[in-house]
Amino acid sequence: MDKGLSCPVYKKCGGCQLDVTYPQQLSYKMRTVIGLLGRFGHVEPVVGMDEPLHYRCKVSQAFGYSRGRVLAGVWQSSGGKLTPVENCALEDARATEIIRTIAELATKHKIRTYDERTGKGFLRFVTVRVGKQSGEVLVALGVGKERTQSAEWVEELVGRCPYITTVVQCVSTDRRNLVLGEQETVLYGGGQIRDTLCGCEFLLSARSFFQINPTQTEKLYAHAVEAAGLDDSQTVIDAYCGVGTIGLIASKRAKSVTAVELNPEAVKNAKENVRLNGAENVRVLQGDAGVFMRKLAEAGETADVVFTDPPRAGCSREFLESLTALSPKRVVYISCNPETQARDLRYLTQNGYRVTHIQPVDMFPFTKHIETVVTLTRK
Ligand code: SAH
Repeated sequence: MDKGLSCPVYKKCGGCQLDVTYPQQLSYKMRTVIGLLGRFGHVEPVVGMDEPLHYRCKVSQAFGYSRGRVLAGVWQSSGGKLTPVENCALEDARATEIIRTIAELATKHKIRTYDERTGKGFLRFVTVRVGKQSGEVLVALGVGKERTQSAEWVEELVGRCPYITTVVQCVSTDRRNLVLGEQETVLYGGGQIRDTLCGCEFLLSARSFFQINPTQTEKLYAHAVEAAGLDDSQTVIDAYCGVGTIGLIASKRAKSVTAVELNPEAVKNAKENVRLNGAENVRVLQGDAGVFMRKLAEAGETADVVFTDPPRAGCSREFLESLTALSPKRVVYISCNPETQARDLRYLTQNGYRVTHIQPVDMFPFTKHIETVVTLTRK
């Protein structure tokens, strides 16, 4: 591909920030990473995608109403206008088809769309999640409290998109954010889908956190586990574990894994995933990663390898202090924000560690985001 996207809604949508050729995007990202992390060591060439389109396996779009039709797209932050998005080049094609079909069926069945100002109406947004390997597809409708007869048109939706595995409906009445609330009703299928990453199986529900680009996620996790240098003998910590992805993949080559995560629902998913994979050497704990590390350090415990994959804010100071007290031989730091990662690397390199490998991975073509895996070794 030698052009940008030539997308008609590029400016209004805001989902993409780099409308240049893919090689240009990759060199932009390399410059960003070298600028922030280059002083810690050599930065390996970014791992890009062979085909950087239609990679998004999780897609959300909002619904609005105009001139007798239900439309799907994104809300403009100013002015409360919906920009219809019909052919997004980043979305999985099945997700695009499902969203278009929902808008058509909602128009046909006169389903009222949700009005943020009044809190009235029903259909607000949809999140589609596609299992890349399994082919299973979950559709989650974000809806208002109003009672509406979804059953009839959901049957029609599944008839027209027979690859859909399950449909759920979650109440979503947060004024500002399009978030799927906890009140969930399963309308079709089992309410969850499965997918495979690096040979491990994962259960995904409407609200669980899971990387949205499975092709690149496999490369990212495979590299992270490789960088840890596991040989079945190590005790491993997976901090900020989400639904347990990295810990489970690492557990095949480790003696034991302790995974820690703050979000109770993610912890529940992680435990299910441990059972699903029969990984008897993995335990999952709920709590703040910093507090957990401090307790381990205070108890005089040790670990051979620590994986850390924090949110954009990076690791807490408490976490970093306890990490150096715990003094694992290796730390593999996966980050979605090289700015906070640079801050944390400064601390770690001043407190007993040296950076031995820096690997950027492009998880989000056409956006400015970049993921990095930094390997640190105890001096
Ligand atoms: N490693 C996972 C998830 C990374 S996202 C994966 O690759 O899929 C970061 C995770 O950190 C989220 O699941 C978030 O809920 C969790 N988190 C945020 N703050 C935390 C804290 N203080 N302690 C532990 N986990 C935290």
